[in-house]
Amino acid sequence: MEKILIVGCSKVMDNVCIACSRCMVGFNRREGTFEQYVDTDAELIGILGCGDCPGAGIVTRLAQVKLWNAPMGEKPTAVHVATCLMDHCPHKDTILAKIKAKVGVPVIEGSHPYKPENIYA
Ligand code: SF4
Repeated sequence: MEKILIVGCSKVMDNVCIACSRCMVGFNRREGTFEQYVDTDAELIGILGCGDCPGAGIVTRLAQVKLWNAPMGEKPTAVHVATCLMDHCPHKDTILAKIKAKVGVPVIEGSHPYKPENIYA
């Protein structure tokens, strides 16, 4: 069973991208970078904000996810770095490097594919 953790931009999550629903829909439909889980048992176990600019707390926050979920025996088997962070974060490269250095599971760049071409169309 794959256990998926999404890491996104704290400034965007649930504020601009209301309810983080595009990531959830993308996961449920196995679209975007979640396409790799078609025909695979996979659960979404968390959507984690980077902790706000400049993302300095990301490693601590990842450790907190592990801590909070340990009593339930849940831990991520893969981390997806969300579209909001990948597309807009000026600190993306540093955050990505920290995540890849620490998590010990595959880190996939991107999440949902639902980017509007033209918001006034
Ligand atoms: S560090 Fe990047 S991902 Fe985090 S809140 Fe700031 S812009 Fe968003």
